Amino acid sequence: MMHENKTKENWLSQLGLSHPLLIAGPCSAETEEQVMEVAHKLKDTTTTILRAGIWKPRTRPGYFEGVGAIGLKWLQRAKEETGLLTATEVANPQHVELALKHDIDVLWIGARTTVSPFVVQEIAQAMKGIDNIVLVKNPVNPDLALWEGAFERLYAQNVTKLGAIHRGFSSYGKTQYRNNPEWQIPIDFKNRFPDVPLIIDPSHIAGNRDKIAYLCQKALDLNYDGMMIETHPNPDKAWSDAAQQITPKRLKELVSNLSIRRADVGEQHSADILNKLRTKIDIVDDQVMALLMNRMKITGEIAEWKKENNISILQAERWNEVLARMLDLGEETDMSQEFIQRLYKAIHQESISHQNKIINK
Ligand code: PEP
Ligand code: MN
Repeated sequence: MMHENKTKENWLSQLGLSHPLLIAGPCSAETEEQVMEVAHKLKDTTTTILRAGIWKPRTRPGYFEGVGAIGLKWLQRAKEETGLLTATEVANPQHVELALKHDIDVLWIGARTTVSPFVVQEIAQAMKGIDNIVLVKNPVNPDLALWEGAFERLYAQNVTKLGAIHRGFSSYGKTQYRNNPEWQIPIDFKNRFPDVPLIIDPSHIAGNRDKIAYLCQKALDLNYDGMMIETHPNPDKAWSDAAQQITPKRLKELVSNLSIRRADVGEQHSADILNKLRTKIDIVDDQVMALLMNRMKITGEIAEWKKENNISILQAERWNEVLARMLDLGEETDMSQEFIQRLYKAIHQESISHQNKIINK
């Protein structure tokens, strides 16, 4: 399991928190009032670090690209008035220099930056030897080596107070998540860097408010060390990522409803073991559902093609082939042939009715 047996001191254990680390704040700093309002409201939660994006990497041009360096002064003021540590995203050496000049405590490297070894190298060099906490988001693509590479580049510059943020991975086409969690990647990361705190960013994984609590609980069940949750005084009016932000009040409720599981193996409760196994099942179920959605999508494409070419939906020969292949695969498992047959019949029926809908549209 992940951070059981953790003995080494790191920046997180030095913070001495009695609960998982909570980083909260708006996707973007918008106005001085907004930053101050959210900072003061977060004082009523277990938040330790106030986050706000100042320079916003947008996938496409023409969207709000952040307020720029002026926002650093707002964060400074928020820190003075509330005592919260402050965090912002840096995407080039100039950002690093400005953020350090304004006493920002925590710098994070965004998912669109982690993919670029040249940029990560430049940023790492600009950070050489700093004592600040540096968090690295996973790259947008599901590539563990790129994520690890960023840590290696930072360690090589003697930047050692590091943390990893799991914010999910993009995929082509719509899935139930804005960014697929691909839990196996952070789990592998943790095995490679057991002493680096691992933080979930459910906001960017989910892309909407509804799944934040669920994702946080999953992460805690997997022994993550903390959470970064986008929090805005008026989420629906946010200038970026409106659908996924929550109010400080909701944040407080959400966090207080999470169960924190003990990680020490010696006295682990059987309920904890069960919950961890259930988490693994949930992860697999997510994958099963994503695969079924993908299958149904391809079925739809086939239906469009059949419609254009005036071919009937049911091709008995093809269906027999599919079923025979699956029964054959199933022979090597403990699953009964009867189960595989029922499962595939159900999938096939759903595909047929999906195709019917398309053809008769
Ligand atoms: C953000 O934290 O607002 C952000 C832009 O995140 P990411 O780099 O994960 O997309
Ligand atoms: Mn965001």
